[in-house]
Amino acid sequence: MPYNASSNRYDTTEYHRVGRSGLKLPAISLGLWNNFGSDRPLETQRSILRRAFDLGITHFDLANNYGPEIGAAERNFGLVFADDFESYRDEMIVSTKAGYTMGVGPYQDWGSRKYLLSSLDASLDRMGLDYVDIFYHHRPDPETPIEETMGALATAVNSGKAMYVGVSNYSPEQTVAAAEALAEYGIPLTIHQPRYNMFDRHIENGLLPVLDQVGAGSIVFSPLAQGLLTDRYMDGNIPNGSRASEGRWLQPGPIGDTYLQRVRALNEIAQNRGQSLAQLALTWVLRHPQITSALVGASSVAQLENSFAALEGPPLTDDELATIDPLAVD
Ligand code: NDP
Repeated sequence: MPYNASSNRYDTTEYHRVGRSGLKLPAISLGLWNNFGSDRPLETQRSILRRAFDLGITHFDLANNYGPEIGAAERNFGLVFADDFESYRDEMIVSTKAGYTMGVGPYQDWGSRKYLLSSLDASLDRMGLDYVDIFYHHRPDPETPIEETMGALATAVNSGKAMYVGVSNYSPEQTVAAAEALAEYGIPLTIHQPRYNMFDRHIENGLLPVLDQVGAGSIVFSPLAQGLLTDRYMDGNIPNGSRASEGRWLQPGPIGDTYLQRVRALNEIAQNRGQSLAQLALTWVLRHPQITSALVGASSVAQLENSFAALEGPPLTDDELATIDPLAVD
């Protein structure tokens, strides 16, 4: 069936400005790291992407290496894009990244100009796009000069292959260095993509004020701790097909007594607010003004809808935040 986007798609989402840029992102964005590889039916992927766009989720986050196998998520996104979304291209924010291992040899890893620019071309090819909206350096490179890596991002913008650029997994100091290097080319560092959730609060130690300082926004990945901050494992079992059952990125080991005590206590707070645990976890990360968007994953339309409904919840009170605090630890 041909896809016609819902005419109500802009009615329920909030859009937040990314730092001091002109760009706005939906408060909840969809990532294609897992659930969009060759191991999942394309029709399930299509239904998640369609539902997201119908909900006003305009932002889709990819990377060169998302799969399995490497590159498969971009290829699958490209297939659905060509069928369903071509006419909506100007309403979509598509991002990709390079920086992790893409293949063998010295030119498919880290942060050289050689790797980043050839990888961007390959990503555009796989997705069937002329440009991406955001191109990220995926992780800091301890060996390549930051001037070279940021020079490659500046070239991506100047060549029209990327509208904005960002960094991911950079420390506060590396973020300042990246912004300064980009400024030499007259290009702003628009966005940072760090991990942030109730079980990983490292960005509270320095990154948030740095984002203000350099004028960048942020989109936080794994806000549900890959499913640990949902009802997925709350009964102590590991369901078939869940990320922990695959054991590739999430190990079942930590799903023990301490974990269960914490999530059940957090779930009680969520229920008292009329929310699911996933919704509470999303409301919690979005409380910082520096956080533009929460970047969720979803293996089904139902999960996506559940997460998206976090936007209907009330803001957290000081009392609720204080009760959550001792439970929100590594
Ligand atoms: P989440 O923390 O949102 O975890 C997503 C998983 O949680 C889903 O696959 C699903 O698990 C479960 N889930 C999601 N919603 C619900 C719900 N409402 N109820 C119950 N379970 C739910 O994010 P991800 O770890 O998937 O990361 C999101 C995105 O962030 C990635 O797709 C990618 O774009 C980006 N990312 C970036 C990185 C970087 O280095 N820059 C690193 C990692 C991610 P299940 O599959 O078991 O059903």
